[in-house]
Amino acid sequence: MRKKIVAGNWKMHGSLQQNAVLLEQLLNGMAGLDCELVVCPPYPYLPQVAGLLAGSQAKFGAQNLSEHHSGAYTGEVSASMLVDLGCRYVLVGHSERRALYGESDSVVAAKFEAAHKAGLVPVLCLGETLAEREAGATDSVVLAQLQAVIDRVGVAALSSAVLAYEPVWAIGTGLTASPEQAQQVHAVLRSRVAELDSVVAAGLPILYGGSVKPQNAAELFAQPDIDGGLIGGASLVAGDFLAICRAVV
Ligand code: PEP
Repeated sequence: MRKKIVAGNWKMHGSLQQNAVLLEQLLNGMAGLDCELVVCPPYPYLPQVAGLLAGSQAKFGAQNLSEHHSGAYTGEVSASMLVDLGCRYVLVGHSERRALYGESDSVVAAKFEAAHKAGLVPVLCLGETLAEREAGATDSVVLAQLQAVIDRVGVAALSSAVLAYEPVWAIGTGLTASPEQAQQVHAVLRSRVAELDSVVAAGLPILYGGSVKPQNAAELFAQPDIDGGLIGGASLVAGDFLAICRAVV
């Protein structure tokens, strides 16, 4: 049985006060969940989140990391710094990083490697734009994004990683991939990994992200290759995030 994970990407939202309220509500409501609950706050709030989640089942991670170990990289944060702060997970290659900060497949692969070597669990985000989907290029786009990482670190590194299929056109737009559309891409990704290593493929959690809400989570999570979600907007509302976590089967 694959691990089920629901991860919240807070993006650039929150404050010390808002975070404290949100985390208290999550902690009060998370008993009996059938999934691992993860939150990914902005970097400055990681120590606060670490303190408030200490002793709970919840895990936390960062939204990004540097591909470099240390050095003259003003404004950057390394994998070992995230480990120091107690992170378990780190998002790698979120579509906003790719689109707004020019992260290429090769930079994303280098970040994945840095996370993996430091003992973090990289959550590798993959997804196509609307134009790419309309051109029939969805499978080739996500497979190329995946291949760049496999070429760099090898398929075995995926045994301690998570994939997140996030169609760019569905992130923060209110548009969601249908359960069938999402399942099709998840199956393509898992098959590609299975061609290289069937055991790694069978154990690899593949999350869906893109306007997941309490109303649509259950039918998405019911798909055989969808192992949970990467949640943006709805992860900022405790009741919605917990309802999504409870939709995991
Ligand atoms: C995301 O930020 O990864 C995301 C999926 O956002 P949203 O759930 O708001 O679409």
